Amino acid sequence: MKLSMLAMAFVVAVAQTPRHEDTEFYEPVPPVVTPGKTDSAPPSDAIVLFDGRTLDAWQSADGGPAKWKVENGYAEVVGGSGDIVTKQKFGDCQLHVEFMEPSPPSGHSQGRGNSGVFLAGLYEVQVLDSYDNVTYADGQASAIYGQSPPLVNAARPPGEWQSYDILYTSPRFTDGKLAEDGYVTVLHNGVVTQNHTKLLGPSVHHALPTWKPHPVEMPLQLQDHHMPVRYRNIWIRPLAGS
Ligand code: MG
Repeated sequence: MKLSMLAMAFVVAVAQTPRHEDTEFYEPVPPVVTPGKTDSAPPSDAIVLFDGRTLDAWQSADGGPAKWKVENGYAEVVGGSGDIVTKQKFGDCQLHVEFMEPSPPSGHSQGRGNSGVFLAGLYEVQVLDSYDNVTYADGQASAIYGQSPPLVNAARPPGEWQSYDILYTSPRFTDGKLAEDGYVTVLHNGVVTQNHTKLLGPSVHHALPTWKPHPVEMPLQLQDHHMPVRYRNIWIRPLAGS
């Protein structure tokens, strides 16, 4: 019996159609996470780093207790008291941070509301009052400081709470050399400002970054840049791959 060309095409198509079990996966079952009451509230599997009451999850970068002021549900940078770092170390993660710039504003450019979220203590997502405040593009709010400007300026005015939602993929090092690139995605007030931005090295001022090998898991660091920036509602979710 000879098959027509149409019948042949049908037979070939059926033979190439994948089976359900080849394309649909039932295992592993993704774990259930209960989201927060709002998208900014910590989901059930988040590690709360600051709930507005205590900086117990933090310490001073040079050792000892964190010296920032905690009152009225926020932590405020005390100029000269030093950066603070988490006691726990983190690798790949989702991080939520809220901050408020001093109002009324004072200073200009890098001198207005400067602080920073240092992923792995090395890669700075810049915190700055970038509302009506001109500075260099890779130094404004939500820049990867000194290497990648934000896609847009999504800053709110000083005196209003703002948010960063950050996805961090740590670079990997083998034998002291960069083996896998690191990436950062940032949503500033819900607006994408860094879209899977490749890290070029640790944030440095007035210099080109050069790699400093480090373990995947490192403390998170917040910067004391001698300006009374406030923080609240900080939580983190380690992601697979760490
Ligand atoms: Mg800074």
